[in-house]
Amino acid sequence: MAVSLCGKCGGKEFELTNYSADASDAGLRLFQCAQCGAVIGVFDAAVFEKIKQIEERLKLMDRRLTNIEYDIDTINKKRK
Ligand SMILES: [Zn+2]
Repeated sequence: MAVSLCGKCGGKEFELTNYSADASDAGLRLFQCAQCGAVIGVFDAAVFEKIKQIEERLKLMDRRLTNIEYDIDTINKKRK
């Protein structure tokens, strides 16, 4: 696999930091080179939180679906 390099300094390590130019930017996070600080990308922290919430809902739905499948299987076995 190719090694990711910073386009400015050639650094190989990156980090995620909070961006706080003013209060309205409080939810933004920067993905940057750990050596020189060159910004590679910007992420909205609210999007991460929303993805986590969706992941938890999917896990809950999966558990409920598994229970429904078990109940249907149990009913079918009783019919036979
Ligand atoms: Zn760099």
